[in-house]
Amino acid sequence: MRIDVATIFPEMFDCLKSGVIGKALDKGLVTVNAVNIRDYTLDKHGKCDDTPFGGGAGMVMTPQPIHDAIHALDPNRNALRIYMSPKGKTLDQAAVIRLARREHILILCGNYEGVDQRVIDEDIDEEISIGDYVLTGGELPAMVLINACARYVKGVLGSEQSTQEESFSDGLLEYPQYTRPREYLGRQVPEVLLSGDHAAIAAWRREKQLQITRERRPDLLEGK
Ligand code: SAM
Repeated sequence: MRIDVATIFPEMFDCLKSGVIGKALDKGLVTVNAVNIRDYTLDKHGKCDDTPFGGGAGMVMTPQPIHDAIHALDPNRNALRIYMSPKGKTLDQAAVIRLARREHILILCGNYEGVDQRVIDEDIDEEISIGDYVLTGGELPAMVLINACARYVKGVLGSEQSTQEESFSDGLLEYPQYTRPREYLGRQVPEVLLSGDHAAIAAWRREKQLQITRERRPDLLEGK
């Protein structure tokens, strides 16, 4: 999977080099190419932002360097082009799976008050939010999206089961997990998990999934 990112802070994407995603990058299963929008500005002072027409607080990212950066990354419009935005559709697991099937995505990260609407209208296919709150820039949201999608690229996780048996995979939250030791701070691992009875373990886990989902996210059970 190829992921291009247009950002004014490409160095932030260095933190993807750690852990599972870092290994996926090393193996070439996923490529992340973060380019600096500033490199494309035609402004002689290197400016990429300006005051908003109509007044108001803050600065707005100008369209020219963004449009040119996107065009350089994706001249034939092969990529699915995404703008990270609090005004976008909220990211969920279904969207992650849909996006992870794409061979090439391009992510635009806004900063300041956001980007000039004309570049969104001209160059962007969808706007995605990571939740109902506002961050200073689209870089962390882009990394959330990259991390979530990369997990679904074949070979990135050790076991395919990891994405099949986890929260949201079947519309429920995950059951509690335990490992060694059997007793810790006076708390025991549930007996059934030590029983070796696979049917009983599966039934216990299903019951816990339903209980936790009912308590914490009853909205997920609506229509089930
Ligand atoms: N003025 C914008 C508004 O009220 O909708 C917020 C701009 S925000 C300070 C700067 C940039 O951060 C946005 O252009 C977007 O790229 C990114 N951003 C902030 N919150 C986000 C969120 N919840 N999801 C995705 N991107 C977000």
